[in-house]
Amino acid sequence: MPDVKFNRFYRYAELTRILKLYAKEFPNLIRVESIGKSHEGRDVWLVTATNFRSGEDLDKPAFWVDGNIHASEVTASAAALYLIHSLMTRYKKDEAITRSLDTRAFYIVPRVNPDGAEWALADKPKIIRSSTRAYPYDEDALDGIISEDVDGDKRILQMRIPDPNGAWKSHAGDPRLMVRRDPIETGGKYYRILPEGLLKKYDGVTIQVRNPKQGLDLNRNFPAGWKPEADQSGAGEYPTSEPEARNLVQFISRHKNITGTMSFHTMSGVLLRPYDDRSDDEFPTDDLWTYQKIGDKGTEITGYPNISVYHDFRYHPKQTIAGGFDTWTYDHIGVFSWTIEFWSPQRQAGIEKYKFIDWYREHPIEEDMKLLKWNDEVLKGRGYVNWYKHKHPQLGEVELGGWDFMNMWTNPPLEFLEKEISLFPDWVVWHALISPKLDLYETSVTALGVDTFRIRLTVENTGWLPTYVTKKALEKKLTRGVIMEITLPKGGMLQSGREREELGELEGRAYKPVMVDEMEESTSDRVKFEWVVKAKKGSKVKLTARHDRAGIVKAEVILK
Ligand SMILES: [Zn+2]
Repeated sequence: MPDVKFNRFYRYAELTRILKLYAKEFPNLIRVESIGKSHEGRDVWLVTATNFRSGEDLDKPAFWVDGNIHASEVTASAAALYLIHSLMTRYKKDEAITRSLDTRAFYIVPRVNPDGAEWALADKPKIIRSSTRAYPYDEDALDGIISEDVDGDKRILQMRIPDPNGAWKSHAGDPRLMVRRDPIETGGKYYRILPEGLLKKYDGVTIQVRNPKQGLDLNRNFPAGWKPEADQSGAGEYPTSEPEARNLVQFISRHKNITGTMSFHTMSGVLLRPYDDRSDDEFPTDDLWTYQKIGDKGTEITGYPNISVYHDFRYHPKQTIAGGFDTWTYDHIGVFSWTIEFWSPQRQAGIEKYKFIDWYREHPIEEDMKLLKWNDEVLKGRGYVNWYKHKHPQLGEVELGGWDFMNMWTNPPLEFLEKEISLFPDWVVWHALISPKLDLYETSVTALGVDTFRIRLTVENTGWLPTYVTKKALEKKLTRGVIMEITLPKGGMLQSGREREELGELEGRAYKPVMVDEMEESTSDRVKFEWVVKAKKGSKVKLTARHDRAGIVKAEVILK
């Protein structure tokens, strides 16, 4: 049993070792494989979790979970690891987890982007958005400032430099807090605030803040709605141009048993659903209603609100996100997909109602004060670092301080980590268990003559979702319905029916209205097929029914 702790983050080598230890400890429940390499050539690990004794993963409906596509959002990997740990340690103890592993499969990629996470977790951390590949240009900036840890304390804070034309001043109520100067105000002590970092070619007068040359955002590199760099920065040269995105697209496209996805990110404390780039009006209505039901269950279990990216989570009111994973899996794969943003410092500080991303552009000073109070009382001052003097090699004496974003905002402080990620396994398991699931209803054999028999196979969808999962999947013809096959004994012949029959989709219970009317009680969740077979009495006939998304049913009948 790996000695895994949830009050710390793991670097790649340790994460790899832990995953392999789980596979060794639970060989009947876990397999670990590489689904491809990262840009720097690291294996990207995929964990398949299911009870292999009750069937192979491909014969079961599956649920996908990934994390850490964004480099510094290492909480996502911890949450995926926590999910794996929960599935393993609560199997045979927790009814839902046991049932989910016996009847479903989980595909879990704890770290989609190992290169970027390795930089974020290095002793001298380097924070980038996602891939470590240089993009769009493979050249260093000639001048300017790039954020890095200049005083070797493993934190990247801000620098404040006194400047009569600076935009910032100390707040009267709490001098640590930097607030905007009034538009016509003069005569005070003002500051310029820059990221903690070193300058190249400083001319003594001008300072340009440079973004890292690693400008990719892997979560803009997926095929649905993909847009080129001018329209969507970080998108890459073409959809799936990056190996980290391509690894996921290839695996998911080839695993037609996947019925839902969840991608772990930070932060905001929110459950996000598609579309990223389109209004809710563009949804098939049943899909929107079902999304809302699934989201409400998520909110009930985790306490996180569930919202649409397009309507409620925009970086700029006139811009939408293109090329994201969740819109791709919903729109092209036709499954329910979520992006989970773990952790909300605002909520910790008692700020309950706030507009997720808009808050960073504008919010009342009182909310900053609440955050500082939380910092002082709960974090003992580790979150917002009081300004301290530092001798900067180019700028001379500056002060370092302000929020430690990587360790307090982008990720929870470590003492909060386990509590935050422990909210999720129950919802993931619930989401896996709502999938369609093909089960045997009955088989029957009727003798029509000495060597002629009618064989009937009836199966039903015992899952909550229909076999096609979403109306989007129906609309795009992404699934092909239930297929029944018969394997005859030697010398047997079919008198009616074919060896393989396509029988269409089965409904679930998801679309039932709250008031019952008799029309809704039809057995649209059940399908039968009858073959007439000429074969020797007493011989065995094998029957199978399968659906790409709902699993497989195997039966055997004896002709008598
Ligand atoms: Zn993210």
